[in-house]
Amino acid sequence: MLYKNLAVNEAGHLTVSGFDTTDLAAQFGTPLMLLDETVIRNRCREYIRAMEAHLPAGSRPLYASKALSLKRLYEVMKEEGMGIDVVSVGEMFTALKAGYPLENAFFHGNSKTDGDIAFAMDHGIGHFVCDSLDELTAVNAEATRRGIRQKVLLRLTPGIDPHTHEKISTGRIDCKFGAAIETGQAEALILQALALPAIDLQGYHCHIGSQIFDHSPFCDAAILMLEFMADIKARHGFCPPVLNLGGGMGVPYTGADGSIDYTANIASIGKLISEVCARLELEPPVILMEPGRSIVADAGTTLYHVTTIKQIPGFKNYAAVNGGMTDNPRFALYQAAYTVLPASRMLDERDFVCTIAGACCESGDLIQEDVALPRPNRGDLIAVLTTGAYNYSMASNYNRIPRPPVVMLTETGPHLAVRRETLEDLLHNDL
Ligand SMILES: *Cc1c(COP(=O)(O)O)cnc(C)c1O
Repeated sequence: MLYKNLAVNEAGHLTVSGFDTTDLAAQFGTPLMLLDETVIRNRCREYIRAMEAHLPAGSRPLYASKALSLKRLYEVMKEEGMGIDVVSVGEMFTALKAGYPLENAFFHGNSKTDGDIAFAMDHGIGHFVCDSLDELTAVNAEATRRGIRQKVLLRLTPGIDPHTHEKISTGRIDCKFGAAIETGQAEALILQALALPAIDLQGYHCHIGSQIFDHSPFCDAAILMLEFMADIKARHGFCPPVLNLGGGMGVPYTGADGSIDYTANIASIGKLISEVCARLELEPPVILMEPGRSIVADAGTTLYHVTTIKQIPGFKNYAAVNGGMTDNPRFALYQAAYTVLPASRMLDERDFVCTIAGACCESGDLIQEDVALPRPNRGDLIAVLTTGAYNYSMASNYNRIPRPPVVMLTETGPHLAVRRETLEDLLHNDL
C-alpha cells in the first residue's frame, strides 16, 4: 500500500485509518472526500520540529491554504501552531470564520485589488507578500491612510526551473509572478519598497515550483537568494531578517514516485544555509517555508461508485464513476498521475485495464488511464488516493454537479467538515 494509514480488512474492503470505506460510502454517500486528520497533524508537527531543529531560530512553516481551504482545516492549523498563506479574500474570510488569527497569515497573489488590500488590513493581516510596484504603491497608500506601517515580503524570481511540470513551475524569469533577480527588477523593487514610508520591508520570498522530491532545487534557490541578499547588503546597506523559500515539496501519488523524507530535506537545506551564510558573512535569516500539497495531499482519498462499464474492442475500456473533473480536475488540467484502488474488492484479481472516466460532458473528463481493476460492476466502490490537495479547492459546479462532502477521519470517528452541496445550493445565486 502506498500509505501507512491504508489497509484491507477481512471483507476485502479498503480501510483508511481503520475505517471501512464501504461503511463511509454508505453513511455519507459518494462521491466522498475523506481527509485523515491525523496524517495532517503529524505532517504539520514534522515540519515544525524539523524547521526548529535545523534552521535558524524563529524559522517556521506556513500552510499554503490554496491547496485546501475549509474552516476545519484552519482550526487544525491554529491548534498545531502553523502559520498560513492566503491568496484571496475568500481564503481570509474562511480562516477568520474558523477563528484563525490573521496576524499569522501572509497575503500572497499577483493581482490584489484595493478592496483585497483594505480587507486584509481591516482584519490585521500579518504580512503582505508583494509582487509588483503597482501593488507596493497601493499597499503603501492604504497603510498611510490608516497611519500604520505594513510588514511586507517581496516576491522575487531566482530563475530556477525545478524540472517539474510547466504549469506548476513558478520560479522562472518569464513567469507571471514576482520580480526577477537576473533582470535587475528585483533590486529596483527593493529600492522602491525602501523609499515608501508605510512599507516595512521584512524580507524576500521565492517559490520555485511544486511536486519537488529532492532537496537540491531548494538548496539552489537558497544559495541564489542568500547571495542576492549579501549583494544588496553590500551595495545598499540593507539586509532584511526573513527569507521565505516557498512551498513545493513533493508527495508520492503512485509507487513510481518513490518516497520523500521531509525532515532530511529540511536538514540538508539547513546545513547548506549555515555554510553559505558563513561564507557570505551574513547573519542567517529566519527561514519560512510554505508547504501546501505536502500538508494535505496524502491525507485525502476520494470515493466514487462505478456507474457504467464500456468496452471498445481493439481500443480501450472505460469505467465511469459518479464524479470526475468537477471534484478532481487535475488529470484534465495536466494529466496528473493517481493511484486508483478497487475499494470494495481489494482481494479480487486486477486483470481488467481501463480508463476511469468522469460524468461531465467532456471527453477529457478522466480521472486516470490504464488502471488495473477487477472487471468492475455497476455499484463497485473505487478509491482515488492522494486527493487532499488541489482537488476540493479546485472543484467546480460544471454541468451543475454539486460538490462532494468532506469528512475528517479522527480518533473519535468520522466527522463531517463540509456537507454535500444540495440542489438548492446550486440555485442559491440564481435570482
Ligand atoms: C502554491 C504555492 C505554495 C504551495 O505549493 P505546494 O507545492 O502545494 O507546496 C507555496 N507558496 C506559494 C507562493 C505558492 O504559490
